[in-house]
Amino acid sequence: MSETADILIIGGGVIGCSIAYHLARLGAGRIVLLERRAVCTGTTGRSGAIVRQHYSNDFTVRMAKESLHVFQHFADLVGGACGFTSTGMLVLSAAAGVEALRANVQMQQEQGVPTRLISGDEVPDAAPGYSGQGVALACYEEDAGVADPMATTSCFAQRARDLGVQLHEELAVTRIVASKERVTGVETTQGLFSARNVVLAANVWSPALTATLGITLPITATRHPMLALRRPDDFGGRYGLHAVCLDLTRSLYLRPDIGGITLVGSSENVLTASDPDHYAQGLTEDEIRYFATMGKGTLLPLARAVPRGNWAGIYDDTPDYHPILGRLPHYEGLYCAAGFSGHGFKLAPVVGEWMAAYITSNKLPDDMQHFAYERFERGQEIRPRYNSGVLG
Ligand SMILES: Cc1cc2nc3c(=O)[nH]c(=O)nc-3n(C[C@H](O)[C@H](O)[C@H](O)COP(=O)(O)OP(=O)(O)OC[C@H]3O[C@@H](n4cnc5c(N)ncnc54)[C@H](O)[C@@H]3O)c2cc1C
Repeated sequence: MSETADILIIGGGVIGCSIAYHLARLGAGRIVLLERRAVCTGTTGRSGAIVRQHYSNDFTVRMAKESLHVFQHFADLVGGACGFTSTGMLVLSAAAGVEALRANVQMQQEQGVPTRLISGDEVPDAAPGYSGQGVALACYEEDAGVADPMATTSCFAQRARDLGVQLHEELAVTRIVASKERVTGVETTQGLFSARNVVLAANVWSPALTATLGITLPITATRHPMLALRRPDDFGGRYGLHAVCLDLTRSLYLRPDIGGITLVGSSENVLTASDPDHYAQGLTEDEIRYFATMGKGTLLPLARAVPRGNWAGIYDDTPDYHPILGRLPHYEGLYCAAGFSGHGFKLAPVVGEWMAAYITSNKLPDDMQHFAYERFERGQEIRPRYNSGVLG
């Protein structure tokens, strides 16, 4: 197979599919997306898919706010059902994190996010089932919620196809090809694809592809476990959903799922590097016990819950836990949207829009400048207020 495209995208996760859709909407020419397996079989398929606006920097709050708007109006703005449901979200802080929480909530309110500080005692009223014990200060963000990552990505992919994007699955890129200072395409398991623009949206698999061009992407693959618990039926039954929670006192996050399920994961930076193609996808007995025990301390009905499955996914961590968005150095036509560090699902609508606008106009959307590859060498890393960088 030998093909020619104007823009070639590597990776069929939520980021690559959102970029493909937005490029097609702008009429950016012949667009081809290459996915080595099937759409949404990478990190996105294992995502918690919590959609929140709680971030530490005004530009990430604006990004999350715009993306939330898309999730809330997905059928009209993109098309199809992304499974977004608004549940509300708690952030629970111990004494050490109070100043950071106060500052974040004030900044978020200034950005127009409906969020409010509450005391530990007010936690059970704001979000039934949750415990306020040991909570020095909390906040409640009413618009936050959860989406279905598989459905969201499939919608972006389908709409991209509808608009003319060629989406090839089971087709892996083996090398990005360049001539002098310009990319000219990619080699794949099924032959050469020529293109003057290549967009790398291959998550933790991105660094191996830029390495052959002499570009080091500072992205580390790390493993992150998640436990699924069946809640007791008297807590909402099969159809009820409880609030999402980021419990900073226990470094835990919880999200409801359909079927009476609560997913529990860790918000800690787990910096042990993992091989993204060979890592333990299931949880150990110790991990199951840990998440079940911690979970019931935060959400009291989980004391009567039953483990109903588990999995681990991979984060693509950068040194400041924020993605690399934009052009990569040395080669014209080489773009990157990777390094989402465990919080990229919710940002995918805006990332797709920004990347498409930049590639087609060569004009950087205002807030996108913060995510440049060069920030690490310039000492302009993005600084979250919390110790846990993955919260952003
Ligand atoms: C357990 C867990 C919980 C999470 N919870 C949340 C959350 O609550 N909220 C949130 O916002 N984010 C969350 N995230 C993070 C979020 O899921 C990711 O940031 C996001 O899904 C990344 O999307 P992506 O498209 O960059 O990556 P991926 O979905 O991994 O897509 C990249 C694709 O590239 C393909 N690929 C790789 N190499 C090649 C190649 N050589 N040729 C062709 N194709 C290739 C892969 O097969 C893959 O499908 C979570 C992640 C995990 C693991």
